[in-house]
Amino acid sequence: MIGGNSLDQVKGIEVFIVDLSQEKPYLGSLREGEKVNEAGYLVRKGNRTVYPVKNRSLVVRVETRDGVVGWGETYGLVAPRATAEIIHDLLVGFVIGRDPFDVERVHDDLYDLMRVRGYTGGFYHDAIAAIDIALWDIVGKIKGVSVSELAGGRRVERIPAYVSGLPEDTLAERCELAQKWQAQGFDSFKFALPIADEGAVEELKSLREALGGNARIAADLHWSLTAEESIDLARELSSFNPWFLEAPVAPECIEALRKVAKQCEQKIAAGEEWRTLHEARMRIDREACHIVQPEMGHTGITEFLRIGRHAEKYGLTVIPHATIGSGIFLAASLQAAASLDCATDHEYQHSIFGPFRHFTGDRLRCEEGAFTVLDAPGLGVEPSEAMKKAITLIPA
Ligand code: MG
Repeated sequence: MIGGNSLDQVKGIEVFIVDLSQEKPYLGSLREGEKVNEAGYLVRKGNRTVYPVKNRSLVVRVETRDGVVGWGETYGLVAPRATAEIIHDLLVGFVIGRDPFDVERVHDDLYDLMRVRGYTGGFYHDAIAAIDIALWDIVGKIKGVSVSELAGGRRVERIPAYVSGLPEDTLAERCELAQKWQAQGFDSFKFALPIADEGAVEELKSLREALGGNARIAADLHWSLTAEESIDLARELSSFNPWFLEAPVAPECIEALRKVAKQCEQKIAAGEEWRTLHEARMRIDREACHIVQPEMGHTGITEFLRIGRHAEKYGLTVIPHATIGSGIFLAASLQAAASLDCATDHEYQHSIFGPFRHFTGDRLRCEEGAFTVLDAPGLGVEPSEAMKKAITLIPA
């Protein structure tokens, strides 16, 4: 808990959509039967999930009466104006005038506003997460310390990064791409089942041959299997020694996830779609996964830390998820992860990080297999001039 009183208070909140569009869609080229609709969305056959052709995220700027500015960011891939409207229409009125040092109390008060109506996650919590990250940034700036210090102590300077997603059209090209990263000092990788055109076994087998026995290779199964299918697949994959299997079954199927975790010899990872400790406890307390993957863009810092500390109590590992963003919530995720002993690695979305690293002034670094955790007040990053050209203010 952050103690004391800042003698300052929140004065205003602005909301922006950030344009993170790229030529090649996330997860790579469209597969057979996948087409873009008029609104710019496509559905991936492999996981029946919608993706935009033009990536976006949602950024908030919170300013205090004394002129301290904090930045937050949340998930904006789909319908970002919905989240912006929740902030403008509802949340702003309950944050103005609050002491930023009460960030955790503010989080819980905002959560309580809609709790009994069932708005305990989704777009509603994304909106809270953006404000929460910005308030932690402000607290760090006022106190002159990094968020990892605020969160209980900066335990590491670097966090090992795994190369996530190999968005190439053929398996040979995906292996080649992984080898390029390996040559740059990365030893950990993850492939995604929806674009593993020859199936998970062939994908892992080829990557294992290309990368050698020491590489760690995880499989993201994108919630696409039943418990029985997952257990069978895990058996088939075992001779190629997968690092972990991610999201084997549909998100709501907690008992199925538990069954997979109990019956597979591999480690099971889950958590990128959770917002709160409550959602995490439904899986962690039932021993339904071994690796917890909180996504800062959904959780914000307050719930990320609660999930991480709870996972730690249960002896689990935290390997944060990294979705598509400008770098602000990635900086927050690295700060929060650096305060947890159980956070061993962090996802590295190289196809987003590389092209947009300059949006936060090139300060974030991921080299030779690890992220550097910034040691600067707050999150340690600010939007650059380049990012300011790529953002659009959403009017209240
Ligand atoms: Mg995933």
